[in-house]
Amino acid sequence: MKIARLPQNDRTNGWSAVLPPRAAHPALGGDVTADWIVLGAGYAGLAAARRLAENRPDETIALIDAGQAGENASGRNSGFAIDLPHNVGSSLEELEGPQRFMRLARFSIGYLQQQIETHGIACDWSHDGKYHAAVSPRGVRDVLDPLAKELEALGEPFEWIEKADLTGKLGSEHFTAAIYTPGGALMNPAGLTRGLADSLPDTVTVFENSPVTDAVFENGVHLMTAQGSLRAPRIIIAANGYSEQFGFYPRKFLHLIAHASLSRQLTAQERATYGVDRPWGMTPANAFAGITMRYTNDHRILIRQGLAYCPDQKISTDQQTAIKARHKALFDARFPMLPDVGMEHTWSGIVCLSRNSAPGFGKLASNVWSAVCQNAVGVTKGTFSGVLAADMATGRDNPLIDDMLSLGEPDPLPRRPFLDIGVRSRFAWELWSNRHEA
Ligand SMILES: Cc1cc2nc3c(=O)[nH]c(=O)nc-3n(C[C@H](O)[C@H](O)[C@H](O)COP(=O)(O)OP(=O)(O)OC[C@H]3O[C@@H](n4cnc5c(N)ncnc54)[C@H](O)[C@@H]3O)c2cc1C
Repeated sequence: MKIARLPQNDRTNGWSAVLPPRAAHPALGGDVTADWIVLGAGYAGLAAARRLAENRPDETIALIDAGQAGENASGRNSGFAIDLPHNVGSSLEELEGPQRFMRLARFSIGYLQQQIETHGIACDWSHDGKYHAAVSPRGVRDVLDPLAKELEALGEPFEWIEKADLTGKLGSEHFTAAIYTPGGALMNPAGLTRGLADSLPDTVTVFENSPVTDAVFENGVHLMTAQGSLRAPRIIIAANGYSEQFGFYPRKFLHLIAHASLSRQLTAQERATYGVDRPWGMTPANAFAGITMRYTNDHRILIRQGLAYCPDQKISTDQQTAIKARHKALFDARFPMLPDVGMEHTWSGIVCLSRNSAPGFGKLASNVWSAVCQNAVGVTKGTFSGVLAADMATGRDNPLIDDMLSLGEPDPLPRRPFLDIGVRSRFAWELWSNRHEA
């Protein structure tokens, strides 16, 4: 089958721009065979390849990616490894769902941290916790109050932070209140993704800059690129929203585009004016209307704002001047004491969601497994889905596989153009009805 929609690298990712240059692994060339193929070098594919190597040390694994590790969605995100349910969704009577997610997410954080420590991965990994902040009293009532109740019922530690204190911690008067949770981790996601790709066991051969344009699933798996061909008896598909083109999950995935900017580094004088010296991360009470922000270890401010339907999964650089200007205006509204600080890097990334927020995980055929569709929480969800797909494929007993399977399967979506109309209307409604959180 022909693979027409390929990921692009527009070379705008700010997280990799602030890192030293990196040499990519060679592209696939000639005819290569391996015992396993892993398709996709994001969190899911990197975890799957590493775990396959751990489970089957005598077998060879080929990890192939269209682009370069760190330039994909995994390297372009806001850098939150999230360990708690993202939004309030489950009722207090149904705490088992959040508990399963926390078990899985905390496994991922431990697994990532182990690689970071073992291989000295430079990605500013830190345990600074996270603020979930509401702009308006309505956001406090509708989101923070129920979240506090849920955390209490789960026995999870948190701190309720009122405006005056929050202003001191974030250096912005924009918010009414926040819930601070100490778990999870923050990082430079490009540094982490690169580091994971560059520290894989010797039995894993990584092929970067190798877009797969043709795939045959007969007598094993045969993938073709412009310069080479890769065969193996088995595959784990970890190509995120691009996976549907390989014949699996038809009409199950929604593709969104999300935008982010990193400011330039604050000068010593600006840091003194800003008055906050600890790095922090903040997620918004409403993901559509609100913005995600971070103050990084190297004294930059991240703004992640704007989420739009993007069925063709194409990143257009045409809009980036307008997005950069919008992010600068949002920055100015939140940090008026830093008027001269511009947005040094602005970029976009593609996010894959399912209608019911379920992952595309499991066994798809006798020799095909998948770890796709992380529903915008890919640092932790991608990592555990990759590890568990590898465990499932190699028959390694792991009780977390049951937790994973309990997350369900993606529900089918309506056909286009009904889907387009429905998603666009829903997004417009979400933005309008949550405008108090902008
Ligand atoms: C702006 C933004 C902010 C975000 N913030 C967060 C956050 O703070 N925390 C969080 O957990 N998540 C966040 N996310 C979501 C997160 O980035 C994704 O869920 C995660 O990266 C998905 O990981 P993955 O491994 O499944 O897919 P990807 O990282 O997309 O990797 C899939 C890989 O498959 C490869 N591929 C696809 N097609 C082919 C082909 N034909 N041939 C070869 N290779 C192919 C791609 O090149 C790609 O490298 C954010 C996303 C964006 C865009």
